Amino acid sequence: MTYLENVLRSIEKLCKISSSAAYDIAEKVLSNKEIDEKDCEFILRCDDPIDLELLRLCALYLKIRTSGRYVTFVCNRNINFTNICVIGCLFCNFSVPPGDSSGYVMPLSEVERRAKEAYMRGAVEICLQGGVNPELKLDYYINLLRIIKKINRKLHIHAFSPQEILSLAERENLKIVELLKILREAGLDTLPGTAAEILHDDVRKIICPRKMSVREWIHVITTAHGLGIRTTCTIMYGHVEDIEHVVQHLKILKDIQRETHGFTEIVLLPFIHHNTKLRNIRNCRPGSSSIYDIKMCIASRIYLHPYITNVQVSWVKLGRKLAQYLLTCGANDLGGTLMEENISHAAGAFEKEYITREELIELISSVGMIPVERDTLYNILRVYQSGNNSSALSGTTGSSLAI
Ligand code: SF4
Repeated sequence: MTYLENVLRSIEKLCKISSSAAYDIAEKVLSNKEIDEKDCEFILRCDDPIDLELLRLCALYLKIRTSGRYVTFVCNRNINFTNICVIGCLFCNFSVPPGDSSGYVMPLSEVERRAKEAYMRGAVEICLQGGVNPELKLDYYINLLRIIKKINRKLHIHAFSPQEILSLAERENLKIVELLKILREAGLDTLPGTAAEILHDDVRKIICPRKMSVREWIHVITTAHGLGIRTTCTIMYGHVEDIEHVVQHLKILKDIQRETHGFTEIVLLPFIHHNTKLRNIRNCRPGSSSIYDIKMCIASRIYLHPYITNVQVSWVKLGRKLAQYLLTCGANDLGGTLMEENISHAAGAFEKEYITREELIELISSVGMIPVERDTLYNILRVYQSGNNSSALSGTTGSSLAI
């Protein structure tokens, strides 16, 4: 019996003893129908252990149907080129205001050195993100992109959050579309879909009152997609938001994807509360519980299917063991090796900042999945069928499934 048949058999057994609401969701999943917002809310509120196990298996079923037993990761490096920021989000302990003695702007030569080092170690992606620093002009961003592309044109540049794009466009008096074209010309490949946090203005007024609005985030993202610049999308949960806000957020992402097909994946980001101002706000939760992380993963997989089919869990924020477990709850991607990730660490994330390729391979294979190294756009670079024996392949995740 195959892995998928085993999962199906367990789903059928649990359907006999589950609630009617969980059964209805399972039935939709098995008959290839989309679930709606009410179903999504049911998953996020579900406390019954049998229902939850059934829903977990449904998420796993969809993951296996979509990408087999492959679990992907990318060899990349994050470079946070400045920590000076005027936005002051309450959940952020990475940035400092202008004038602060610990503020920095990385010289271009240092960015180049780090990117080169990553490239020499086999990285295929450089991720550039920084604070909104009013001193940085368009030339700095263009030069950042150019020096990295000079190392190798194929080195993929995943850079600048929608907030950085919006603020730079305002500073330079450019339309978003004009700025994106200039940056693309200089070497920008894709954008991180960060700055989304929770796409509900009531929540944003509390956690990041000076940040871009929901409408502005959608505008930057859909403009990028319109130009063929793909982006990720993210959700940061486990603070002051309600489940209704989460459902609205996921609905916005699904609606955008239905139109543009521009998202490569959703990245689940639990709020890391240590050392942040937000933790002192009344009604703010100290991050999510692990059971809520599990429900978020299940809901994202089932609700967003078949529009967004890559669900990434962050080993930095969740910890390795929970991230590993989520590979059995619908997640199919563990993100990057990173090499440095100052933002989570400033907020108190406990994982060390770099995970080796070998560690990721071990993490994935020990839950019965097949480790696959990918590029930013989910093209397969290498499949690790057993241990470290690798075989170079090309194609996409869906092209060669191990079910
Ligand atoms: S999350 Fe980004 S925009 Fe907000 S304060 Fe931190 S660096 Fe600035």
